[in-house]
Amino acid sequence: MNLLLEKIEKLRDELHFHNYNYYVLDKPLISDYDFDMKLKDLINLEKKYPQFYDNNSPTLRVGGSITKSFDSVKHDFPMYSLDNSYSKNDLEDWNDRIFKNIGDDNLQFLCELKFDGVSINLTYKNGRLIKAVTRGDGIEGDDVTENIKTIKTIPLKLKGFYPQNFQIRGEIIIEKNDFLKMNEIRLKQGLDPYMNPRNTASGSLKLQDSSEAAKRPLKCFLYQIVSNEENYKTQHNYLKNALDWGFNISKTYKLCNNLNQVMSYINHWDQKRHLLNYEIDGIVVKVNDINYQKELGFTSKYPRWSIAYKYKTEQVYTRLKSVSYQVGRTGAVTPVANLDPVLLGGTYVKRASLHNEDQINKLDLHVNDIVNIEKGGEIIPKIVGVDLEKRNFECDKIKFIENCPSCFKILSRNESESQHYCLNFKNCPPQITGRIQHFISRKAMDINGLGNETIDLLYQSGLISNCADLYDLKRDDLLPLERMANKSVDNIFIGLEESKKIPFERVLFALGIRYVGQTVAKKIAIAFKSMDNLKTKKIEDLILVDEIGSRISESIVDFFQDEENCYMIDRLKSLGLQFEIKPDKKPLNNLLNGDSFVISGVFENYSRDQLKKMIELNGGKILSSISSKTNYLLGGNNIGPSKLLKVEKLKIPLIDIDSFINMLKIKP
Ligand code: AMP
Ligand code: ZN
Repeated sequence: MNLLLEKIEKLRDELHFHNYNYYVLDKPLISDYDFDMKLKDLINLEKKYPQFYDNNSPTLRVGGSITKSFDSVKHDFPMYSLDNSYSKNDLEDWNDRIFKNIGDDNLQFLCELKFDGVSINLTYKNGRLIKAVTRGDGIEGDDVTENIKTIKTIPLKLKGFYPQNFQIRGEIIIEKNDFLKMNEIRLKQGLDPYMNPRNTASGSLKLQDSSEAAKRPLKCFLYQIVSNEENYKTQHNYLKNALDWGFNISKTYKLCNNLNQVMSYINHWDQKRHLLNYEIDGIVVKVNDINYQKELGFTSKYPRWSIAYKYKTEQVYTRLKSVSYQVGRTGAVTPVANLDPVLLGGTYVKRASLHNEDQINKLDLHVNDIVNIEKGGEIIPKIVGVDLEKRNFECDKIKFIENCPSCFKILSRNESESQHYCLNFKNCPPQITGRIQHFISRKAMDINGLGNETIDLLYQSGLISNCADLYDLKRDDLLPLERMANKSVDNIFIGLEESKKIPFERVLFALGIRYVGQTVAKKIAIAFKSMDNLKTKKIEDLILVDEIGSRISESIVDFFQDEENCYMIDRLKSLGLQFEIKPDKKPLNNLLNGDSFVISGVFENYSRDQLKKMIELNGGKILSSISSKTNYLLGGNNIGPSKLLKVEKLKIPLIDIDSFINMLKIKP
């Protein structure tokens, strides 16, 4: 072997080894300084001799690659969710179901912590990490390999005797003390603190610049191997071996011989979980024997051989300072409890939702009450009780407001509903801004560059009072506003222009017609095809559409009876928004067989758009950047050298326009 390459490889191996000792074993064998020096040497050598590039080099830990959009990848094995249990009874039922299936009453179980983070699926080939994909919807996830490579508890190269081909699943987490440190720094910088470790970890995986991801204190616990190898017999065996291959396996797992032992494991960690430096939301119990696992298989949602035991949600006490009221875009008024800040599940909580008047009365809330709060699945916690012994009877009972906190009009409450409404739809400021904020939101028009605060600011400055006004904004209107620089103004205009491509069904949803959510908007768009057609429909026409009832139909008819709404819609239409369904771009045939193409360079006789259309109409796909998922690079003149290097490395065929045209010829 080339001496130079030998030297580079040796440095790489050393750095992999020391990285493992430091981050996985927590037992460094050399000083940080020596480690940094070796890393620096390697970075320099790799820079000087790019021909020895290695996709798994320890230098990738520092990041530096930019991912514009994360390719979505279908999982080879779906990433199922877990069935839940909450008591010994539930576990016994589960055990009975298993017994009925396999008839062994001497089952062993492997108990593990249920790490509360973001799950990830890693693919290793010949001992090298080649792909990392998020769970997504369980069927398809996002390829976040470049960011994952920066996580030092994930081995890029394995050691020992590992299977040549396998996948392993784990959970990316941020430890509690790292999370607190991150937030301290943010607060010092005048930034809002992050909400909780799990969401922050999840956001970190989607950072476009992997050197930013490298700065986040992400860690990973691995817990499940997916492989067709026959050698490993049990989950316990798998975990022990995976540890030897260099994976970070938590030592908290335990092999149990019966459900009583499982229960003691559960109770042990219920007591001790607060001492862990990371969050868990329960325990996972798995049938230890892999053959039994295979026999039991999966339901449509869960593995039958595994179950989660969920701990009761954490509760804390704090003081209720006051109740304030928010008015939403529909005029619905929601009470919010303001609390003395308190730590709950790793997050500082200062507000809790109260839903409505009935809820306040049911809890019989008084100012200064010591309230019991808990966090369910949702981000905002709720008040579940009051400590009556600590009540100060001089404090006032909370009484629901009678007037809108914003426009002061009397609120109304329908007998049949629990919600109060401000009916001043046209002139109540939070309703006006709420509608525009809904219009620009991600699931609606997704206008980049505009956020809720900017909408408030534009409204307060008298620049907008409905959605159509956004498109009439001028540069000179925006530049004098606070925090508006040239760049942010550019972004707003680009975002507005881009929004004109948003399909009709989303425009319909964006209008914020009461009861017309995403699904209803889609159904209506498909049924009536265009706004002009929909506008003329009566309740009896609308009601014929599947799943559209009288409440929705009335609301739609009401919306179009309002002159101001109609005027706004006419303006939006003349501005170029999509007000009808575009016919589907169905492929003419499947000559390209679903293959994916990246187009690069300049072509003499074809524009890019033409090529894209040709690919799509013949059943191919377009990708924006080259990855291992790319089947062909369609190259013209002047292809960028980095693209050429990349296809060479990934062994992706580069085809010219003539070969491409040939692919489109129907073969006899
Ligand atoms: P759930 O999303 O509540 O249905 O729970 C399933 C998720 O639990 C999986 O997708 C994993 O991300 C996560 N999980 C955490 N720890 C473990 C573990 N030790 N074994 C299996 N899954 C786990
Ligand atoms: Zn109002």
